[in-house]
Amino acid sequence: MSDCLFCKIIAGEIPGKKIYEDDEIYAFHDISPQAPVHFLVVPKKHIPTLMDASLDDAALLGRLVHKGQELLASLGCAQKGGRFVFNCKEDGMQTVPHIHLHVLGGRTLLWPPG
Ligand code: AMP
Ligand code: ZN
Repeated sequence: MSDCLFCKIIAGEIPGKKIYEDDEIYAFHDISPQAPVHFLVVPKKHIPTLMDASLDDAALLGRLVHKGQELLASLGCAQKGGRFVFNCKEDGMQTVPHIHLHVLGGRTLLWPPG
């Protein structure tokens, strides 16, 4: 989608600190990290929000989570883990309308969020 920030990062039109890329998935460090490790895993397919995903996207979403797990481990957080978050639409305070999985680690994260 031409007007989407994350589509532009995936296309290399806006710089991003890429961690991983394959034909379906792109991962990059969050520009405003909320933990020592904070990266985003996104599908290359433009799906605005989790509420727009269908059963056809189930395998893709599963791959996002699995890739997040692998990358979190590669960044030194396998033992202590972290948090995997999909913010969704207005009440979830999603600010970029292209599905993205936040993966955070490297410190103890409080629960519940504010
Ligand atoms: P959300 O609020 O769940 O939609 O998350 C959007 C995330 O994208 C925020 O954590 C932002 O810090 C992050 N973000 C915004 N612009 C960029 C960018 N150019 N590169 C990397 N991360 C970004
Ligand atoms: Zn997009």
